[in-house]
Amino acid sequence: EKKIRRIDSAKDKSRAREKDSERLKVEENVFDVSTLKILYTLSNKGIIKAMGGSISTGKEANVFYAEGPEKELAIKIYRISSSTFKAMDTYIMKDPRFTNIRNNKRDIIFAWTRKELQNLKRAKSAGVRVPEPVLAEKNILIMEFMGEKEVPYPLLKNTPLENDEVKLVYDTIVEYMHLLYKEANLVHADLSEYNILIDPNNITPIFIDMGQSVTLEHPNAREFLYRDVKNILRFFSRYGIKDKTEELLKKIQAE
Ligand code: ATP
Ligand code: MN
Repeated sequence: EKKIRRIDSAKDKSRAREKDSERLKVEENVFDVSTLKILYTLSNKGIIKAMGGSISTGKEANVFYAEGPEKELAIKIYRISSSTFKAMDTYIMKDPRFTNIRNNKRDIIFAWTRKELQNLKRAKSAGVRVPEPVLAEKNILIMEFMGEKEVPYPLLKNTPLENDEVKLVYDTIVEYMHLLYKEANLVHADLSEYNILIDPNNITPIFIDMGQSVTLEHPNAREFLYRDVKNILRFFSRYGIKDKTEELLKKIQAE
């Protein structure tokens, strides 16, 4: 209580930020004190100009809209109290990039958040359209907001595709999987119509949610790639795409 009051009194220094803290209070149950502190610090540094509404409440994380100094932002906040973090273990512990993190819940979640930032960076450098990562601090990931005027782009799942759009969207997804594999050395590992957005301006896919993505050295990388391929083929079978699993796997792993 005292800590929260201290943070709240700091905010009084700036009337401009008053609205934000009101909103943060509404969301108080998802923010522990340390998360609030980081948000206030980021706001003091001008990285966040104003917090906006909730975009999504997922199993492990909440995503919020925010205004940045230049562009719209999405803020993904992993809940420290997340109950499914155990599953993160199997992804993190076998990843050569994260071999010496301590085995406690907070550290695993912080490593997970940094991993998502790094994965987004690698994907972007490889030419895959993803939200541009801005920064990761503890359990908070800040990235480019994929949407317009506070409205996020729709999921592939919720975007009916015209006949002439199917091939382009499918081919681009396959090309992105190939680029991830060959250029970024990554497998998405949770790819499906739920983690692909569609930019309605040009009907282009955008990959999101890369916290669980693993490098090819991960002992389960092949299995994860197989699952991703299966998911994409299952989804596109409704649009008449009949590619075979083995064919598509080869295409993704080709030079
Ligand atoms: P879930 O458990 O539902 O899969 P998650 O915790 O894994 O969610 P994400 O999939 O990364 O988190 O994001 C949840 C939702 O938030 C997405 O489906 C999307 O609608 C929205 N979202 C995530 N990142 C962005 C972004 N950069 N720009 C706009 N919207 C986003
Ligand atoms: Mn998701």
